[in-house]
Amino acid sequence: MKELKDFSTKLLHIGVENDKHTGAVSVPIYQVSTFHQEDISKAQDYEYSRSGNPTRKALETIIAELEGGVAGFAFSSGMAAMSTVLLLFGVGDHILAPKDVYGGTYRMLSKVCGKWGINHDFVDTTSLEAIEKAVLRNTKAIVLESPSNPLLKVSNLPAICAWAKERGIITIVDNTFMTPYLQRPLEFGADIVVHSATKFLAGHSDVVAGLVATGSKHLANEIYYLQNALGSILGPQDCWLTMRGIKTLKVRMDQSQKSAQLIAERFAAHPKIKAIHYPGLTSHPGHELLKQQAEGFGAVLSFEAETAQLARKIMSKVKLSAVAVSLGGVESILSYPVTMSHAAIPAKVRAELGISDALLRLSVGLESPDDIAEDILSAMEED
Ligand SMILES: *Cc1c(COP(=O)(O)O)cnc(C)c1O
Repeated sequence: MKELKDFSTKLLHIGVENDKHTGAVSVPIYQVSTFHQEDISKAQDYEYSRSGNPTRKALETIIAELEGGVAGFAFSSGMAAMSTVLLLFGVGDHILAPKDVYGGTYRMLSKVCGKWGINHDFVDTTSLEAIEKAVLRNTKAIVLESPSNPLLKVSNLPAICAWAKERGIITIVDNTFMTPYLQRPLEFGADIVVHSATKFLAGHSDVVAGLVATGSKHLANEIYYLQNALGSILGPQDCWLTMRGIKTLKVRMDQSQKSAQLIAERFAAHPKIKAIHYPGLTSHPGHELLKQQAEGFGAVLSFEAETAQLARKIMSKVKLSAVAVSLGGVESILSYPVTMSHAAIPAKVRAELGISDALLRLSVGLESPDDIAEDILSAMEED
C-alpha cells in the first residue's frame, strides 16, 4: 500500500489490508485461541492468541502507525498497558511521575511497584527545574501526562524528552487525553506512548482497552516479551470495537473540542463558577505551550463551583451528562474527581494539587454544546 500521509485517511485505511482471504473492509474478528501449525519445526505468524492474534495485530499496527512508532501493543485496559510498561523496570530502579498523575498509575506506583523493588517520586512535571531536582542516580524513567487530569496542566513534553534522552532516562507519555490525532509524543522524542483506549480512541463508552506504541525496536522487543509473559492482552472482540471507534476519531474529536471551547467560554463568564480549566482558553497558563506541541486542546475541561455543596448539587441534578467516571465517549460525562478518578490520592495531596471538593470534570461529547452547558447550569438552580 502507498504511504498514507494525511491523518484522517490513515484512520480509515491502516490495518485493514490484513484480510487477504475475503477482501472484507472491516478487520474480521479472529475469535480463536490456537492456530493449526503446518510444520512444527517452523515458527509461524500466529500460534496462540496470547502471543499473537490477527485482529489484535491489526489494532496494534494502527496505534503504531498513528503514533509514528515501529510497534504497537494492545492490552486489556489502560492500566494493564501502563503496568506492563512499568514492569520494564526492576529492583533498584527509580521512576518519576507527575504529582497529579492518573489515580490508577498513582496506585500502581505507590502500592504495587515497591513490591517489585521499583521506587518512585512524584514531581511537578510542569517545571523542568523541579524534575532536575527530583532526579536520582538510579532514575530510569519518567512518566508524563499532558494535559494532566483533572486540572489540564501542560508540561513541556519536547523539552523534557530531550532532557531525559541526554541522561538515558526513558520517557513514558500517557497520551489518553490528546490521542495521536492531536499530539504525537514519539515525534518529539518520547520513548513510549501509553493510552487508555477506553477513552477517546474507542470513544463509545463500550470497551475497556489499553494501547502502547514505541519508536524503539529494542523497547518493542522488551514490551512484547512482557505482554506475552504477563498475558494482559486485549481480546479480539474488544480489539474490533476499538478499531471501529478509531475510524471516527477525527470527526468526534473535532466536534467535541469545538464544543468544549464554547462551553469553557460560557462557564468562564458564569458568576457561580469560580474557576475554569481548559487549555483552549487564552487565560489558561498552558495555552501557548500546548499550541506548540499539540494540534488542539482536547475535549476535557474542569471547573470549580462556588462551593462543594453546589458541586454535589450539580452531580445530583444533572440530567443530560452521564454522572460517571471515564471520559472520551460520544456522550458527555461529568465526574467528581474527589470520589472518582482521584479517590486513590490522599486528601492532603489532593488539596496540595488544587483538586478541591468543588471541582467537577466534564468530558464533552457530541450533544449540542448549548444543551450540555444548559443542563449543568440549570442543575445549579434547581431545588
Ligand atoms: C482512564 C485512564 C487510564 C486507565 O485506563 P483504563 O482503561 O481505565 O485502565 C490511564 N490514564 C489516563 C489518563 C486515563 O484517563
